[in-house]
Amino acid sequence: MKWKEKWRSNMRTVTLRLRQNPYLSLTIIISLVGRSDVDTTSQWLAPIVWEGTFDLKMIDSIYKPQNITVATTIFALGKYTRFLKDLLESAEKHFLVGYRVHYYLFTDLPDQVPLVKLSEGRKLSVIKTESSNRWQEISLRRMERIEKLIEEKLLHKVDYMFSLDVDSKFYAHWGAESLADLVGVVHAWFFGSSTQQFPYERRPESQAYIPYDEGDYYYGGAVFGGRPEKVLKLVQTCRKNLDIDRANQIEALWQEESHLNKYFLYNKPTKLLSPEYLWDDIKKRRSFMKVVRFTQVVKNYAEIRPNH
Ligand code: UDP
Ligand code: MN
Repeated sequence: MKWKEKWRSNMRTVTLRLRQNPYLSLTIIISLVGRSDVDTTSQWLAPIVWEGTFDLKMIDSIYKPQNITVATTIFALGKYTRFLKDLLESAEKHFLVGYRVHYYLFTDLPDQVPLVKLSEGRKLSVIKTESSNRWQEISLRRMERIEKLIEEKLLHKVDYMFSLDVDSKFYAHWGAESLADLVGVVHAWFFGSSTQQFPYERRPESQAYIPYDEGDYYYGGAVFGGRPEKVLKLVQTCRKNLDIDRANQIEALWQEESHLNKYFLYNKPTKLLSPEYLWDDIKKRRSFMKVVRFTQVVKNYAEIRPNH
């Protein structure tokens, strides 16, 4: 065959393959163009993970042989147990597939934990937990409960961990590209806002206080993670500061999320996950969002929370 004919035939095959698999075309386009539309590193040179910035095959070839275990804490108190089924089923489809995952599920209603079939190497432990009549309290007390869990069960036993909000769902791949010493996720609603617009705690009386001329990102409280010893320092610091605030009868604007933001300002995450890893079902998809991996689902606040 002459080279011209061979070239034509090869191009026909490539065109056909791309037509059959639009996702492949998207991947190829992104890898050719790169991600010039978004920042892919922070100013302290931590990667910001976006679709098109990593080679999954290479990442898996690093982490798979290490046979790592990733602990995942989920709180489902009161009416929030209704989110468990969708969250766990979607996690089994998309979250660290092929890796050992141990879910630690905190609930006051163990009977309402749904039976979800877990893949090989994956486990779920239920931890009976007292509820509270204030949602703010339920949300912020996660810090001390995670602290205790790390000290008692995770330290030196698991390799990485994540804390996830239960009112959430996975829609696409979330894999080992998300792993690092200390991981935060850039909040979907404040991505691209100026630091002055971030809803940091601005009252100096709170331990979560951040002045208007400081700050670099606003992180979502629904996802954080890292190595257990690093996350232990984070939750310990936040818990202590929450205790001081409580003694001073002040509650930060966004409870533990405000304290998390304060911690990350002075103890920078070593990896940032883009809003692909924490989108919101009610938020219009933006052009920089090539994929939505994990979102907060729509909920009726007045109906589901113990107080409103
Ligand atoms: N939560 C819970 N029961 C409640 C309130 C909160 O289990 O009654 C837990 C649950 O894990 C939830 C997290 O606290 O995902 C954070 O609360 P929420 O999702 O209501 O806060 P938002 O994401 O709306 O700011
Ligand atoms: Mn939530």
